[in-house]
Amino acid sequence: MKFIDEYRDAQAARHFSQALKRITTKSWTIMEVCGGQTHSIVKFGIDELLPPAITLVHGPGCPVCVTPLELIEKAIEIASTPNVLFCSFGDMLRVPGVSKDLLSVKAAGGDVRIVYSPLDALKLAVDNPHREVVFFAVGFETTAPANAMAVYQAEVQKIRNFSMLVSHVLVPPAMEAILSFPENRVQGFLAAGHVCAVMGFWEYEPIAEKYRVPIVVTGFEPLDILQGIYMCIHQLEEGRTEVENQYTRSVHKEGNVAAQKLIGEVFRVVPRKWRGIGEIPRSGLGLHEKYAAFDAEKRFGVAHHTADEPAECISGLILQGIRKPYECPVFGERCTPEHPMGATMVSSEGACAAYYHYRRRKL
Ligand code: SF4
Repeated sequence: MKFIDEYRDAQAARHFSQALKRITTKSWTIMEVCGGQTHSIVKFGIDELLPPAITLVHGPGCPVCVTPLELIEKAIEIASTPNVLFCSFGDMLRVPGVSKDLLSVKAAGGDVRIVYSPLDALKLAVDNPHREVVFFAVGFETTAPANAMAVYQAEVQKIRNFSMLVSHVLVPPAMEAILSFPENRVQGFLAAGHVCAVMGFWEYEPIAEKYRVPIVVTGFEPLDILQGIYMCIHQLEEGRTEVENQYTRSVHKEGNVAAQKLIGEVFRVVPRKWRGIGEIPRSGLGLHEKYAAFDAEKRFGVAHHTADEPAECISGLILQGIRKPYECPVFGERCTPEHPMGATMVSSEGACAAYYHYRRRKL
């Protein structure tokens, strides 16, 4: 297939739906890891095409959603500092902190700018040598190569007025954490295709073996997801627990080795706190000692900030696959995209936003 509408073909979707009905004999719960996949599932009604015995639960693969509150507070404090030019992807601006968000810092006169690449932030640092330019580096393995490149270039070009507030997280440790929770009900995973395009899928094989779960690397279009679900259910029904690759047009086992090398040059693996979930060992990336001069937490003295999550928001349970967004008592009432109480209602990949945009009338 060449064109996007071919991946949305209704006849082919019905074919997968019928094939799933034929092979499903028991109840199974599958988690799609990535928020982009969640949006496709809810938007195109993929879950409604499945036999009732198959339940899809939504995973923690939305970087904006899992960035902990204390990182948002650090970003707000740095962005409010005189002479700082604070750069971020647009989604982060409306994520609520304890009492305000980055957009309100901007409204109050802070120089907060939306950029589309960390290299744009680096260019701003070159163009504004007397300002401190800070980039809010949020994301999974997918965005890590570009962020690593920005720091690497800053070092090579000796751009000393550039720094990075790093909140990088890694997928495999989060999957292990979910499988280890006592309330876990996930029996199979759809792994995120774009993450695997960078990292390959060799890291998932020990997880599939240790926890006896099938993991299918899956793309983002409706037919990708239906085929990924079919492959996962097929394994479960046959009692197999292997790593398979549905997204062969973009992913191979080794991934992008050059990108992995660059990530390893600039970042090191660190423990990371996930919003609503808590700290997961070895689940994030922080700057290597060699690049510590570019660490905005150290430069602005905000490394030790802490903040408590609001009790009402159950996004942590949603990101672990334990609850669905519509089970939150304030969903669509006191929490909406215009007045979000949690990050999963703000982000374009957030599960609460997906249900709000595509399902709230039906719900
Ligand atoms: S609806 Fe709002 S408050 Fe409830 S879990 Fe989602 S983001 Fe949190």
